[in-house]
Formats: sequence, C-alpha cells, structure tokens
Amino acid sequence: MPAHWGWLLARTLGLITLGAIIGHLLGSALVGALVAALGSLAWHLRQLYLLERWLANGRRFQVPDGEGVWPRVFARVWLFRRRAKSRGKRFRRLIREVRASTEALPDGGVVLNARHEILNFNESARRLLGLHKRRDRGQRIESLIRDPEFAAYLQDPGQRQGVELKAPAGGDTWLSCRLVPWGPGQSLLVLRDVTQGVRLERMRRNFVANASHELRSPLTVIAGYLDTMAEDPGLDEQWREPVAVMKEQALRMRRLVEDLLQLSKLESGSRAPMEDPVDIGKIVVAVSREVASMAVKLPAVRLDISSHASLLGDEGEIRSIVSNLVSNAVRYTAAEGSVTIAWSADDAGGRLTVADTGIGISAEDIPRVTERFYRTDAGRARQRGGTGLGLAIVKHAMRRHDGDLSITSELGVGSTFTCQFPPQRIVQAAS
Ligand code: ADP
Repeated sequence: MPAHWGWLLARTLGLITLGAIIGHLLGSALVGALVAALGSLAWHLRQLYLLERWLANGRRFQVPDGEGVWPRVFARVWLFRRRAKSRGKRFRRLIREVRASTEALPDGGVVLNARHEILNFNESARRLLGLHKRRDRGQRIESLIRDPEFAAYLQDPGQRQGVELKAPAGGDTWLSCRLVPWGPGQSLLVLRDVTQGVRLERMRRNFVANASHELRSPLTVIAGYLDTMAEDPGLDEQWREPVAVMKEQALRMRRLVEDLLQLSKLESGSRAPMEDPVDIGKIVVAVSREVASMAVKLPAVRLDISSHASLLGDEGEIRSIVSNLVSNAVRYTAAEGSVTIAWSADDAGGRLTVADTGIGISAEDIPRVTERFYRTDAGRARQRGGTGLGLAIVKHAMRRHDGDLSITSELGVGSTFTCQFPPQRIVQAAS
C-alpha cells in the first residue's frame, strides 16, 4: 500500500480510537468513536467541496499543504489541467498554422457536404469563384457555378479526372475543377487557375487550324495539275514515275490537312448534339463496302450487327470513328487475317467493336497510340498510308459523344478497339 494511503488509514483509525477513549472517559466509547468518525467524514467532505468548487470555477488554486491523499489528488488534477491547457494552446497554434497555409495556397479549395453545400473555403477559392464568406456558406455549389458539364461531373466525379470551365466571377479566367473525397460524407473541390494553359492551347489549335486551312487551296491546285499530268498520254516516259510519286504524296498531304482540320474542329467543340438518331449499323455496312473497294488483297471483313439501336450524335463524326478504326484494322492485318466489326446495345449502352487478327500493338504502345502522330513503327505505318491522326480523331470524337475508347491487343495476335457509348445516347428501334 502506498505510504500516503497508509498515513490516511492510520490517521483515521487513530482519530476514531482517540474519540473512543475520550468517549469512554466521558461515559460512552461508541458515541466518542462515532463523533470522531463524523469529524473525519466532515473533513473529507470539505476537501471534496473545495475540489468541486475549484473545478467548477477554474480559478488559480493553491495546492493544500500537508500529508495524505488529498494534497496529492489536488496536485494531480492541477497537473492534468496544466497539461490540457498547454495541449490546447498547441492545437490552437497548429490550427492557426494550417489555416494560414491553406489561405496562402494558390489553388482554391471548397469543402462541400454530401448535398454539395459549401461548408468552408480558402482565400484563393473566394477570389477565383467570387465567393462571400457570410453570403455563400451553406449555398449549393451548383447554384454558384452554373455549368452543365460541371453539374454532370459533380453527379459522377469518378467518370473523369475533372472539368475545365470559365470562372463564374467573369473575365477570361479558366478554372480546372477537381473533386476529391474529404472526410465522411464530404468532398473537397480543388480549383486551379489554368487560364495561361488554355490560352496557349487555344493559340496552338488556331495556328494548326489556320495553317491547315491555308494549305488546302495550294494543295488542291498542285494535286489537280498532277492528276492532269499523270493522265496526259504525251507525258515523257521518264516523268511518269516521278509524277505518280508526287501525286501520291500530294494525296497524303491532302489527307493530313483534312485530318488536322477535323481534329482541331473536334477539339474546339464541346459535346456532340443529342437531337438526331444516327443509324450506326448502316454506317458500318457503308464503311465496310468502301473499305472493300480500297484494295484487292484485303483481310476478310465480317459484320456482326446484333442491334438496330441508333446513336444520338453527329453522323459525320460517328462515320469518322467507324472508318478510322476499320481502315486501321484492314491496314494492319495481313490478307489472310480477318476483321470483325460488331455493334450491340443493351441497358449498359452501345458498343462498337472493331477486332482484327493483325500485327497487334505492344502493351507499352497501347496507352500512346491515341496521341497525335504517335506510331508504333513509323516507317511501316507511313508506308501503309496513315496520317498518324486517325486514333486521335477517334478519341476526341468519342469524348464528344460522352463515350470511351478502350484498346486490347497482343503483338502478332491482333487488336480489339471498343467504343462504349452511354445509355442516354442510345435509342432502341421500335419493334
Ligand atoms: P495511322 O494513320 O498511322 O494509322 P492512327 O492514329 O490511326 O495513325 O494509329 C496510330 C498508330 O497505332 C498506328 O501508326 C499504328 O502503329 C497503331 N495502330 C492503329 N491501329 C492498329 C491496328 N488495328 N493494329 C495494329 N496497330 C495499330
């Protein structure tokens, strides 16, 4: 037993014994012991009262001197209080520092609850979105950023990395918005000023579009003259071969210019319209016929159209998706191989697949083939008449149709390109 408890016990017993002796001398030992026990109890109650008062008032307290348990109890409580106080100070300083650093961040941060109501935001978010601390706390973020693309992203943030939109505060400021999970039932909207990047990208796109546009007319003239020369029976025999090569190269340049123009048009637009249903099965049939007339030695092209469902979108772009994928499949597959074009639709959406038994693409190249001008084997791909832009066009056109392009392939075995369209773009045929 600790010494102070021993002391208390000895003191209490001693007091009661003394009470009993005095009581005995005065006539009743029991009454004397009882009076002494009550005295001891009263003293303990007083200590308890002092402790309770001190805890309730929180006033500075002088630890009572003396021996026994009570001074120790007081001293311990006093120590706990002091520790809690200094811990509280440390936490407050930490919170101040965290707050100061979030305020100093150049990126905006808005904490949202599950209903997308604003709980808190930092200085950059206030500046970028034109928020007001008192007015906008508790407001739904969709009512401040009125943008359909942003609203769609908020509903399903897992669908994409983020969205770029014009700042609601006005001017020509562009913001990149990204939603990240933040505590239970909350999310953090991270905002970044991407105006500079958007301007540069716009300049690059305009430059490519303008240069391609300017190249179109001279190329048409050159190609026209070369056609005429190639067909001229009076052409000197030694010029026949060079003229044929020039004609082929002029045709390649024209294709390149057309693809560049198409790509910059796709990049600058937002979503494809949803008004007109496009009969994708009909397009598949037409493209496969066109491809069949392209060359004599071609792989067998099979069609597997298991749905009459149509697709809501832009007919020209959908045709471009099909024709780029099919012409690739045919170009990168030997005549002995085969190409299968399939169209199906169910509750999960529509699926266009173009599968071939061709040369295939290595695992490292798969993520890169949709980049502009990326070729797995530049020399061979150019010989096969490609512009290097086909899959970039497909990727952008798919994006405009809220769809997704996925590629699976194995070298020497073949490739499968799958275009997945969302259910809202599918119109089932009336039976
Ligand atoms: P290209 O006009 O050169 O075909 P694309 O953008 O259409 O350009 O394709 C990019 C590259 O991806 C091609 O150069 C080729 O290396 C590879 N590729 C595309 N489709 C296929 C396919 N079906 N089989 C094998 N490789 C392919």
